[in-house]
Amino acid sequence: MTYRPLSRSAAGRLRELCSPERVVTDPTLLTDHGHDESTEPARIPEALVKVLSAEETAAVVSLARSERVPLTPRGLGTGLAGGSIPVHGGVLVSTELMDRVCEVDAGNLVVRTQPGVRTARLQQTCAAHGLYYPVDPASLDDCSIGGNVATNAGGARAYKYGVTGDFVRGIEAVLADGSIIRYGGKLHKNVTGYDLNKLLIGSEGTLGIITEITFKLVPRPRYQVDVLVPFDRLQQGVELCLRVIRDSRLMPAVVEFIERGGIVACNQVLGNCLPFADAAVQVLIELEGNDRRQVLDECVLLGETAMALGAREPLVADNATDQERLWTARRSLAKTLKQVYPQVTAEDVVVPLSELPATVELVAGLQQKHGIPIVPFGHIGDGNIHVDICRTIADERDWQRVRSAVVDELVDFVLARGGQITAEHGIGSAKRHLMKRALGAAELAVMRELKRALDPEVIMNPGKVLPDPE
Ligand SMILES: Cc1cc2nc3c(=O)[nH]c(=O)nc-3n(C[C@H](O)[C@H](O)[C@H](O)COP(=O)(O)OP(=O)(O)OC[C@H]3O[C@@H](n4cnc5c(N)ncnc54)[C@H](O)[C@@H]3O)c2cc1C
Repeated sequence: MTYRPLSRSAAGRLRELCSPERVVTDPTLLTDHGHDESTEPARIPEALVKVLSAEETAAVVSLARSERVPLTPRGLGTGLAGGSIPVHGGVLVSTELMDRVCEVDAGNLVVRTQPGVRTARLQQTCAAHGLYYPVDPASLDDCSIGGNVATNAGGARAYKYGVTGDFVRGIEAVLADGSIIRYGGKLHKNVTGYDLNKLLIGSEGTLGIITEITFKLVPRPRYQVDVLVPFDRLQQGVELCLRVIRDSRLMPAVVEFIERGGIVACNQVLGNCLPFADAAVQVLIELEGNDRRQVLDECVLLGETAMALGAREPLVADNATDQERLWTARRSLAKTLKQVYPQVTAEDVVVPLSELPATVELVAGLQQKHGIPIVPFGHIGDGNIHVDICRTIADERDWQRVRSAVVDELVDFVLARGGQITAEHGIGSAKRHLMKRALGAAELAVMRELKRALDPEVIMNPGKVLPDPE
């Protein structure tokens, strides 16, 4: 696809459509908008437009289409796959000013929100009405809810509650032809035609710009208790997770793990925030319920199961202060690794639960074989392991060779075991080259047809998700 540079007159037209102070074209003011949190190369957009409404967004999209200028939707730029980097230049459409929670409808157990609202603020707003939006990516203080829908973000509580898409009831979006669609709403069930919500969930800004979302809400159980279980061997930790999931009849909200490399980085950067600093792995399990006695009984059962597997005495956090300390450490993990190492490649593989022991073993083996820190952590209860490949090799060529070898071996392994290359971070530009390995030709062809039908001129986030045709 060939695109035109943004002309002076088109930039002027953008200023007329939106107000001039919401259109930025000075490259020196755009450096923060040329990257996300991945290691993908930065690219400064030709213009940044901070939209305020669906109608305004539609006008911007129509202009871009008639000018053959590419568009890249952007939430708050915390993505880990390069999704909001304008790789072909053009106009970056930011939803950061669309940050209003429109309505908490407690009677219908839903919240309607603009896309630029931070996830943590959405949660807090719902909590003030006694309701719970439980999807909690570790970046929840920094990312937007629109970005969460566009990437179908997960989080620690996805084990019990599901990912962002499981909570979406309605979406308003602007398509590449400038039309505005509204599908679903406050309905808890709806099979009227093709599910257009599902089409947009996880589409990473390649099929449309999401301008409003309606989410279902749930009641929050009264009591949460977090249990941190240290083990001296990695496989013991994996075994505990599997026992809890399969055999214990417990229904935790969270089943997470942190391997030694992550524990060390957290303690180094945050000042010994995690206990059991020398453990090979720590398993973090959150139990919850309305009956405090029952939750504590479940903790005892969990403790007995863990001790039978060789755990050290677990730490039980049953008050807000201790829980906050634990969660700050867990949520900071990826950030602390980035502070300890000059570069971190964040893989995000997912495997069937039965393949977890072998996958964790493989990662430990890759670390040994290549002699660099490779830190597995994250949402093990979902079969989703984040594998952070940390740079300790100074020479750029050597580093790229080792990094690619690790990614290749990891990807080959998970695909051979029925897994996939990403569970929640998405494809963006970073994993596009892996799509032909991850999906069959027929499935890729359907995706290309969908893209062609909705965006024939390929102006909506080009260079993302789908690999280049042969
Ligand atoms: C420290 C850290 C921890 C993280 N933890 C998690 C985690 O636990 N779980 C998880 O899933 N992710 C996690 N992430 C990744 C990231 O936060 C999520 O992918 C998040 O959903 C991105 O939101 P954002 O607003 O920053 O989107 P951006 O990075 O701005 O954009 C991400 C993608 O969504 C598209 N997009 C954004 N807004 C819209 C819109 N309104 N309409 C259409 N497309 C849009 C963009 O084009 C891009 O393709 C983490 C990231 C960091 C840095």
